[in-house]
Amino acid sequence: MTIQHHLDDNTLMAYAAGTLPEAVNLVVAAHVSLCDECRASVESYDAVGGILMDQSQHVAMSGESLAQVLARLDLPVTDKPVVRKPGALPGPVQDYVGGDLDSVKWKPIGMGVKQAILPTSSEATARLLFIPAGVAMPDHSHSGPEFTLVLQGAFFDADDRFARGDIEIANDDVTHTPIADIGEDCICLAVTDAPLEFKGWVPRIVQKFVDI
Ligand code: ZN
Ligand code: ZN
Repeated sequence: MTIQHHLDDNTLMAYAAGTLPEAVNLVVAAHVSLCDECRASVESYDAVGGILMDQSQHVAMSGESLAQVLARLDLPVTDKPVVRKPGALPGPVQDYVGGDLDSVKWKPIGMGVKQAILPTSSEATARLLFIPAGVAMPDHSHSGPEFTLVLQGAFFDADDRFARGDIEIANDDVTHTPIADIGEDCICLAVTDAPLEFKGWVPRIVQKFVDI
């Protein structure tokens, strides 16, 4: 099954330029790791970026400034290097989880839906979502865009179906209700740059108690 829903060029360009918030960077890296088409785009933007860098003035860097640059890169801080293994979670996500699905620390948020917030910088939030087969995500809207990458199973949102590798980009003004396909529990990586706003009263109460 080929990937039907991709990232837009602006996001891929910003990714190649390294200007995305850490959580958005993660969801793009995860999609790119699954998608040949977007990976080819990123490689072409990288090549263009490399030429521009070469043409700009060269500045000699001391060993210390290199260390400072490396320290600013969006790399997860872990005590021990994560050994990536083939699994449901793409390599960039495994780096944040510390392993594959069996290492995820899920927290229930109601209706069988579970989430795990990944440790990224605070400009945007990355969470893994587990939605049981046939169950709807609570109705919600966002005050910023949301990227939802399917890692297992599939979900429907309005007329579109999203399966592994597909990424949905929902705008800030929509209220939408993704529903997991009945065939399999759905696991997604969802990234928002602002807290989700749930519409039903039950999820809103839950929202006060869990970091969502
Ligand atoms: Zn793609
Ligand atoms: Zn949403």
